[in-house]
Amino acid sequence: MIEVIDVAVPLPPRNPFSYLPPEVAAEPLPGCRVRVPFGPRTLVGFVTGRRTVESAEGLKRAIELLDTEPILQAQQLELARRMARRYLCGIGEVLQAFLPAGIKKGSRGRSTTFVLPVRPAADEALASSLTANREQLRREILRLAIEHPEGLPRQTLLRLAGASSDSPVKTLIKAGLLVTERREDEADVFAHLDLRQSRAPKLMRDQERAAEAICRAVDSERHRGFLLHGVTGSGKTEVYLAALRRCLERERGAIVLVPEISLTPQTIERFESRFGSVAVLHSHLTDAERARQWQLLRAGSRRIAIGPRSAIFAPVDRLGLVILDEEHENTFKQQNTPRYHARDVALERGRLESATVVLGSATPSLESWEAARRGQIDLLQMPTRVREIPLPVVSVVDMRSQRPTGPGGVFSPLLVNWIRDTLDRKEQVLLFLNRRGYNTNLMCRACGHVFNCRSCDVPLTFYREQGRVLCHHCGHTARPPERCSECRHHDIHFKGFGTELVEHAVRRFFPKARVARMDGESMRKRHAHTELFRDLREGEIDILVGTQMAAKGLDFPGITLIGVISADTSLLIPDFRAAERTFQLMTQVAGRAGRGQRPGRVLIQTYTPDHYAYRTAAAHDFETFAETELEYRRHSGYPPFGSLVRVLVQGAEEDRVIERVEKVAQALMAAAMAHGVTVLGPAPCPLAFIKKQHRRHILLRADEGESLERLVDDVEAALRSDRKIQVLVDRDPSSMM
Ligand code: ADP
Ligand code: ZN
Repeated sequence: MIEVIDVAVPLPPRNPFSYLPPEVAAEPLPGCRVRVPFGPRTLVGFVTGRRTVESAEGLKRAIELLDTEPILQAQQLELARRMARRYLCGIGEVLQAFLPAGIKKGSRGRSTTFVLPVRPAADEALASSLTANREQLRREILRLAIEHPEGLPRQTLLRLAGASSDSPVKTLIKAGLLVTERREDEADVFAHLDLRQSRAPKLMRDQERAAEAICRAVDSERHRGFLLHGVTGSGKTEVYLAALRRCLERERGAIVLVPEISLTPQTIERFESRFGSVAVLHSHLTDAERARQWQLLRAGSRRIAIGPRSAIFAPVDRLGLVILDEEHENTFKQQNTPRYHARDVALERGRLESATVVLGSATPSLESWEAARRGQIDLLQMPTRVREIPLPVVSVVDMRSQRPTGPGGVFSPLLVNWIRDTLDRKEQVLLFLNRRGYNTNLMCRACGHVFNCRSCDVPLTFYREQGRVLCHHCGHTARPPERCSECRHHDIHFKGFGTELVEHAVRRFFPKARVARMDGESMRKRHAHTELFRDLREGEIDILVGTQMAAKGLDFPGITLIGVISADTSLLIPDFRAAERTFQLMTQVAGRAGRGQRPGRVLIQTYTPDHYAYRTAAAHDFETFAETELEYRRHSGYPPFGSLVRVLVQGAEEDRVIERVEKVAQALMAAAMAHGVTVLGPAPCPLAFIKKQHRRHILLRADEGESLERLVDDVEAALRSDRKIQVLVDRDPSSMM
């Protein structure tokens, strides 16, 4: 009998490959990384198991073992196995997602190399004239080093100097002008936070009930899932905090997942100031910082991990509780392999590790709502706001019967009146629009030509401040066209409006108001958030114009009016979740109003005022919305009724894409019946050409998810990508675009 190891490499085939163990003394335990030959390459994979076989014929030998102790535990390997099955990809591909880059690369994240100038030699060298090109770069590096005599991290120095390789630094070290020094990392991600220890308030009755149910589940040390449905401002976070406390008291760890966009200093502060045992796994951290947080969790010196979706893989030992705040957010779904949904992974991990899972939202996803209706998870409800502040009054204004005013026709007269009224009362206004830029569409008045991005079949957006046009899909930017590229005519019509234009219009209408904007564009600077929040809190801002970003999680008591400039942007998207997303967005936006002493009101501008998404959002009636929407879903067989897989075929040459998608469809159809799967398509994607890629898709639908898994396994060969054509298989797709 011969012993072999199973190795999961980061490639699509579902199952691991077998190898002879490497010739080393250490034991290749499951969960260790190992380097193996793979065709002409070598790959790093994970040992997933060991077996004995009769014959090792044709098996290659693994090259080297990279860990003496497993860096992944048995439960993580099992989770990866289940995820690979569910998300129709390789175990090795899943395992890739489990480790932060800093750990994968083998950087232990404990120290960083700093570069320091040797003085005065460095200053003298800089003063002497050097001209050749390569020397220019060295001069720049020297200059930067001298500017930072306290030392710069080597990587930072290279980046600032625009150096593509390390060699100029090496040359300067050899010349005795620079030295390096390794320093321990004290990655302090809390540096900018306000950490006055906060105390728990006395919980309200509904909060108490919810917290008790969750704490009981934590005490039981058995898996249990909850949906915490609480209106905005009902105090869900205090319920989480109470459950976390219980979890820590029982010496178990916890994971808190929040959408990236809500991972603000405000949020982190609320958790950190209560417990001080928090590791933050933010995507803005450097690899080394993230690796360090990971290690703190691994070592058990931090018990709570907070982060975006990938934090579900945090190495929290003795996991007792997982919380997903804003569980309906689609950022919990990863858009590349492994295409997991953190909500489903959380529930799966909870089952594996006997942990309690809490899904919290004011607007639960229909998946979670239906799961609660079926009794798969327990429903906890908090229908009123803390301190009895009433929910804002939401009105819908029919734009068909209004004559819009202002530049771009942004405002209904009603909204203008309400804004004026609010300003007169020295209260704050939030104007919401989910589109960035100034104009969102450029068209030739003579021939009707629309200026689309050349690499994407979508219109270019005009940014006035920058004086440029930009493609939101590929990032292409250019100067705005002066004449039509088709008919050479000069008269180009800039139409459609985004937040920049709204800001502009507001300034024109209300010249005395202090106006600020919050969108991806204006928030790029590092501490922009902190400054904006301070100004809002201190009443230095009268009108805030914002996108999505402003809709989520802002808690400013001075805001008493919210105007939704154009609600229909999300409703008209050709996606079966369009109504759900619109309802969620309207509810989230409305939740920003009237969080203080004074009542809030919301005005939604729409051309389809009778749509049930608006009517129910205006009435704060999630249940009626859910009932109506679920009825549609049941009829059309969309989730939560049945499961979906989206097969996306893309490539640079349209003919080849069409040919290939037809072949894929044939293979799927030939096998679909036997598995009870319906095949829809192929059809061009709504975004049919993005980043120079032509895109077509096929939708697979089945009552049971397993049917989809079996079908995809069956036709695996037909679904392989090659050099020209990419075939992407997306289970539970969150976007149909
Ligand atoms: P949600 O997350 O449900 O929107 P939050 O947890 O942010 O609600 O709570 C809304 C506001 O009410 C916060 O300012 C919070 O500090 C406050 N709050 C929550 N629970 C209580 C309580 N029991 N007593 C007093 N204030 C509370
Ligand atoms: Zn583009």
